[in-house]
This record gives sequence, structure tokens and C-alpha cells, in this order.
Amino acid sequence: MKVMKFGGTSVGSATRMKGVVELVNDGETKIVVLSAMSGTTNALIEFTNYLRNGNAIGAVEHITNLQNKYRQTIKELYSDEKYSAMANEKVGEIFNHLRSLASQPLTSDNEKEIVAQGEMMSTNMVAIYMAEQGINSALLNSLDFMRLKANEEPDMEYLATNLNPLIESRTDGKIYIAQGFICMDSENRISNLQRGGSDYTATLIGAALQVEEIQIWTDIDGMHNNDPRIVEGTRPVRHLQFEESAELAYFGAKILHPTCILPAKLAGVPVRLLNTMDPKAEGTLIDNNLTEPGTIKAIAAKDNITAIKIKSGRMLLAYGFLRKVFEIFESYRTSIDMICTSEVGVSMSIDNANRLEEITNELQKYGTVTVDKDMCIICVVGNLTWENTGFESRAMEAMKDIPVRMVSYGGSNYNISFLIRMEDKEKALRALSKQIFN
Ligand code: ASP
Ligand code: MG
Repeated sequence: MKVMKFGGTSVGSATRMKGVVELVNDGETKIVVLSAMSGTTNALIEFTNYLRNGNAIGAVEHITNLQNKYRQTIKELYSDEKYSAMANEKVGEIFNHLRSLASQPLTSDNEKEIVAQGEMMSTNMVAIYMAEQGINSALLNSLDFMRLKANEEPDMEYLATNLNPLIESRTDGKIYIAQGFICMDSENRISNLQRGGSDYTATLIGAALQVEEIQIWTDIDGMHNNDPRIVEGTRPVRHLQFEESAELAYFGAKILHPTCILPAKLAGVPVRLLNTMDPKAEGTLIDNNLTEPGTIKAIAAKDNITAIKIKSGRMLLAYGFLRKVFEIFESYRTSIDMICTSEVGVSMSIDNANRLEEITNELQKYGTVTVDKDMCIICVVGNLTWENTGFESRAMEAMKDIPVRMVSYGGSNYNISFLIRMEDKEKALRALSKQIFN
């Protein structure tokens, strides 16, 4: 059995919904996790904003516009009157409920219930469409098995205990449809797994049921070993270790967030990233299988990085200096990405420079501070365990004509990062690519 998750754009229109059904209808038992149609969750949040601002009329008008879009999608999706009537009734009930909430004061419970409705609508519409097509399917309610514990972490035991009995057989070819994103909290109120949380729903379900594969279907062309906009002849990345994918997650949205990946990694269930626009392509498989030592998988870059250096004689042979430095960043809620130290200085990189001025002012109490803006992190990812030899020198050799501000290696077994000027990025990516992949 597999779990297949489709995001908002993949169910964003009648045509796209039909495409999803075509993809999942291959005779195998599976759980299909769906997001809300694209734009819906935002529209529902907008609805709560109207209510928070005391504008019930605006709220109702806004939600009525959304309902009109749904009516149109329903018209396009079904060919049989009976099924479009069913869908209009189901979706209509949800909109009526939303309108009834508009006449009450907005509570945080209502708010969570409101944003949960997008996934309720998309899954109902797809389930009704499958019924129209005569496909053996069943609509699940994720609120029956997805629950957060008091510490806000998903309750895996509850999930397995409550979902397993709902799956009648793993071999009857039935397609189970479930809402992504939504869940109950520990006090039995409707809640959610945060924005974009449908991926998380899919990996949690896949891990709890120990499925053979969790598939995440999106619209974007999968992972490449290099940025195809910059480097020619880049290749798709077919396989990543979970750790490698976590390193790459910082560099762009094409990869799952490490939190989403974790349940699958712990349960040893492989995750495959696939592209709805090119469904025959193999995609990128992420699992616990070791990449051959010394193999470099991908090179990624992140722009708009600021480097901050603090130099201080006081640091020499002292303890507690780093703590003081880190506390300053913490108090301004700024996360440090790269860090390099010597006995008399520390350099750090940040990607959020909103509080840079306050941070440098505070750091100046402890030493001399230098700031370099418009920098870029280049990250080389692979199985780079330190006992292997050669890859560090290959990467360094590629950077021989480029001024390098910082180098970070050994933080994990999976990356070497260089901090360089943003203007040198393309040159660095080309040089690394040539040196490493050709
Ligand atoms: N519908 C939710 C959102 O827009 C969850 C998701 O799409 O993953 O954030
Ligand atoms: Mg989404």
C-alpha cells in the first residue's frame, strides 16, 4: 500500500482533479491525501480576518465569492447531474456553516474550524467524482485519526490505532481519500499541522501504517544536482538519503521540510517526490539507504546572506564567549546558519537581516564587529563522511579563483558550505559543477 499526496495546485481545478484521479486509479490500494484547492486556505484565513475586524458583511461577501468559484468547478467536474447535485449539496452545507459562523464572535476554536474546511471540500469533491467514475473508493475523515498530543506533537499511536481499522484490506484495490493539514488537538478541538501541513499528514500516515512508499506529488520539476537555470547539462537527482534531503531543504522549497521527513525517516518508509506535470518521470527517492561514500549529490545556493564577524582578545582561552554571542542572536530571534571560529574570532551567517543593527550594536560590547552583505552560501551535499578522502580538495580546487569568506565542513557528514559574494555565485556553481560532476 502507498500514500499519495497532492498539493493545492494539483487539485486546483476540475481538470487537475480529474488528472489526480487518473493518476491514482491503477487498481492498487492506497491512501490519497489532498490539500485544499489552491487559494482556498488563504481565502478562509481572509474570511477570519474580516470577522476579526468586525466586518461580518464583508466576510459573507468574501465567502460567497469563493462559493461561486466552487460552483463553477463543480459544474466542470461532473458530467452526471446526480453527482454534481451531491457535490453542490455537500459543499453548500460547508458554506452555510461558514456563513453561520459569521454571525458569531470569532473565537480561536472557530478560526481553526474555518481553515479546516478547504480540505473537507476538496476531498468530498474528489470522492464524489470517483463515485461518478465507478471507482472503488472511500472518504476518510482525518479528524478521526490525526490528533496532536498536549505537547503539540502528532500522536502516532492514536493515528495507527484509529486509522488501521478503517482500512478494510490492503489488497482490495480500494482508494482511501483523506484530508491533509487538519487534525484534532489534545482537548478534542479542531486544529491543524500548520500551513503547508498536508505533506506532514502524508508522511505521518505513511509512517504510522508502515506503507511501502509515501509519494509527494507537486507541480515542480524535481531535484536537480545543480540549478538548471545556471548550469547546463544538470541531471535529475534520483536518490537522496534522508540526511542529504534535510541539508538541501534550507536551500529551497523543492524538497520537503525536515519536520515532514522525520516520521518517514524514523519509520524507514521511503518518500518519493514526483511531478504531476510529468507523471512518468521517476522522481526523487528519499530513504535511509546509504549513498556510496564520497558521492556528491547536489550543489545548492542561497542568496542574500549576511556575514558577521566578531574579533576579540577576550575570546582567547576564555569560556562562555560563544554563549554570550549566541544569546544576542537569540534575543533578536535571528537564526545563525553557518559558523566558523578561530581562537580570537567568530564568523556567523544569517539570512534574516531585519535586526542586524541591534545585533551589531550589542556585539560591539564584546569585540570588533565586521559585516559583509550580499553574500551567498554554496552548499555541496552528499555522503561526505570525514574518513573519505578527496572530495574536500576537489571542491576547494573548484573555488580556486573565487574569494571565499567562510568554509564550513564537518558539522554533519553531508555537506561542505562556502560563503562567497553573491556576484560570484554563477561562476562558483559552474566551476563546482565542472569539477565535481564532469
Ligand atoms: N491547505 C493548507 C495550506 O494551504 C495545507 C497544504 O496545502 O498543505 O497551507
Ligand atoms: Mg500547499
